[in-house]
Amino acid sequence: MDLTIHNALHDKTLKPIHLGINQGKIDELSEEAILPGAKSIDAQGAMVSPAFIEPHFHIENALVWDEDNLNQSGTLREAIDIYADVKMNFTTEDIVQRSTKTIHEALRHGTLWMRNHVDIDQYAKLDLLEGVVAAREKFKDIFDLQIIAFPQHGLAKNPESVDLMWQAMENGAQLVGGIPHHEKNMEDGARQIEIAFEIAKAKNVNIDMHIDETDNPYWQSLELLAEKTIEEGYQGRVTAGHCTSMAAWDQKTLVRIIDKVKEADITVVTNAPINLLLQGRGDELLVRRGIARVAELLEAGVNVCCGQDDLLNMFYPFGQMDPLEVANITAHAGHLTSPEQIEATFNMPRYNAARNIGLENYGLHEGAEANLVLLKADSAVDALRRKPERLYVIRQGEVLVQNELRTDYAPQVPD
Ligand SMILES: [Zn+2]
Repeated sequence: MDLTIHNALHDKTLKPIHLGINQGKIDELSEEAILPGAKSIDAQGAMVSPAFIEPHFHIENALVWDEDNLNQSGTLREAIDIYADVKMNFTTEDIVQRSTKTIHEALRHGTLWMRNHVDIDQYAKLDLLEGVVAAREKFKDIFDLQIIAFPQHGLAKNPESVDLMWQAMENGAQLVGGIPHHEKNMEDGARQIEIAFEIAKAKNVNIDMHIDETDNPYWQSLELLAEKTIEEGYQGRVTAGHCTSMAAWDQKTLVRIIDKVKEADITVVTNAPINLLLQGRGDELLVRRGIARVAELLEAGVNVCCGQDDLLNMFYPFGQMDPLEVANITAHAGHLTSPEQIEATFNMPRYNAARNIGLENYGLHEGAEANLVLLKADSAVDALRRKPERLYVIRQGEVLVQNELRTDYAPQVPD
């Protein structure tokens, strides 16, 4: 074996296991001790899990927190307005440099895949895309950075952006994005969804849109997206991010639309950390949490993931690219506390996100790709509660990161 991992804890069965890895794949998974390979790791009881996946991120504007760009109102509207100016100053070099720091943080926390929405519009044209493609190229041997062409300023009202979206697909973008609620009304939102499907079908690629990221219950473009997905036979190929207006829908509307989302096999990505801060800003009484109705979606059997979305910028001043932090915040915001809900939340940046991006050979079984993370946790609740250090991060059988945390108590601290 190229690499063996001894005395680990299986992430699902929570039984002690030993792993043998050969040519980047899990060759042997046994409850009995195995012989050490060319390299070996003693996990000392740490949990071994398939590595994490960040399903919704904007890497080109990560790490641009600046006193000159402060978002005074804290709203999404102001963030987008500030960003429209700021992004004109980005260079490819600068995007690659900030992406490098971001990917290092993601890797450190056990993330090996990341879906990125890159602004394509009349201001940025294809400039930001060029920067993110360069970052993807720099890390291509060790990190899967996926790019979604994202028309931040709408398509129905910006015909120039439609051309740019087609060009983006020829210049490195791998998925079609969208933002229907930034059109004038639902009718134009429907038109944007139509354009997105035209492009996606012509290029045979999947769709991943920002959907209804507003507190206004008027916006129900999630329903339009679900209907179009079914009509086009695109079930299982469409992702809806944010979906925050859902927090303001009445129960009847909620049930009707969740049913269609389930039928369309759409994955919903909630971005609880940033939407907890951006939404509900206009509420004077009973301030909304402003996140997708995660518990109801899970209950209905919809595939749900949780995304970091933003890192230290005009949209969100925090974050550290830790999927367990995002999952922990999601559990708080979504009232997810039963053992089943906690398990489901722990699965969001792992199995659910793998299903969303269509990863094959993901998981902890013989024959799976050896993309693994070792974390000092003994259960899902322990992983989410303590967000423990990721001792090893392994990609295709190779150790990419090792972390070490040491705490020493002085003799006067009682046992
Ligand atoms: Zn986003």
